[in-house]
Amino acid sequence: MNMVTEIITTNDLKKMNPVFGQLSFDNHEQVVFCNDKDTGLKAIIGIHNTVMGPALGGTRMLQYNSEWEALNDVLRLSRGMTYKAAVTGLNLGGGKAVIIGDAKTQKTPELMLRFGEFVHSLGGKYITAEDVGMMTSDMDLVRTVTPFVTGISEAKGGAGNPSPITAYGVFMGMKAAAKFTFGSELLEDKVIYVQGIGNVGEALVENLSNEGAIIYITDINAERLEEIRDKYSVTIYEGNNLFAEEMDIYAPCALGATINDLTLSQLKAKVIAGAANNQLAEEQKHGVMLREKGIVYAPDFLINAGGIINVYAELENYDRKEIIRKTENIYNTTLEILNNAEINDVTTHQAAFDVANERIIARKKKNSIGHIN
Ligand code: NAD
Repeated sequence: MNMVTEIITTNDLKKMNPVFGQLSFDNHEQVVFCNDKDTGLKAIIGIHNTVMGPALGGTRMLQYNSEWEALNDVLRLSRGMTYKAAVTGLNLGGGKAVIIGDAKTQKTPELMLRFGEFVHSLGGKYITAEDVGMMTSDMDLVRTVTPFVTGISEAKGGAGNPSPITAYGVFMGMKAAAKFTFGSELLEDKVIYVQGIGNVGEALVENLSNEGAIIYITDINAERLEEIRDKYSVTIYEGNNLFAEEMDIYAPCALGATINDLTLSQLKAKVIAGAANNQLAEEQKHGVMLREKGIVYAPDFLINAGGIINVYAELENYDRKEIIRKTENIYNTTLEILNNAEINDVTTHQAAFDVANERIIARKKKNSIGHIN
């Protein structure tokens, strides 16, 4: 038994801030802390909202600076999934999981299986998939202990790696933003900075280079940069502040919150369109700042929905053709939302959020009528 070294009195507890409302809590339905001493698993599953359906969202494995940072990340990411599924028109709620640790050195089969058991214990309220630090083979492993997992390999009957589809959706959203901003959807000769050339970033680079864009790539992984440079017609960005560079399009494909006070004061891009989740450090404030600067922002949760469309196919049994059709539709939705934002004089993020929210409210009404009857 652990020794309690400090006695916390009721008075002390009264003075502490409430748990609900801390960090990025936003009416989350459930937050599950998963701890397993034997495997070293420390994970948090965030279930934001299940009005539209079970909460589906990937698992991210990352060496966070603190457990609080991990909690904040899962709260933000799971909330984003709610709106991503709703704006895309899928019958899914929003959830996400984070595993605290280095995916390269601390991810073991035992740890993944234990994580799968925790997912299973939620009885399907949360369905997992890949995110940063995860691969289809990890999901295949999780599948051995729970059916509540997607993003499994094609060999095992799944829809396979979602990253190329995510990238294709981002490409579609970027084209729509280009059409809106430059009058043409063609990206030929457009100067595009892709930040983060992992699974999605690489596939985006492939689409962009096929179209003849002038591509600059950045990543914290030098080996990866060289690998991509050897495969595609790209230039490795050698500077240390891409935000100060002249460019047409900035494509954030690494981690979130890269649009913040510091970067926005320098950013010269005319369009932002990338795969990373939660690109705006503060949705409202930075959405408004982007609008004031005349930078067209294709909302992340709208254009990076290809991955969720891909894994949703495993639940709904639709085929590859339908996955592509739904993903290509991101072009139309993005264009419509950019136009709506202009007409209604709101940020593009707000315009996309409003569409999603209206759908959730309508479904909630319908669900409650269903309950009464
Ligand atoms: P990944 O882990 O394969 O790639 C991320 C890349 O970013 C890595 O190469 C990493 O070295 C690089 N990176 C990390 N920090 C960086 C920094 N500060 N500057 C430059 N590069 C940096 O992840 P992924 O699957 O390609 O996903 C990328 C982003 O897209 C994530 O934010 C993820 O949440 C989001 N996303 C992915 C999918 C999907 O289908 N994989 C779907 C929707 C959203």
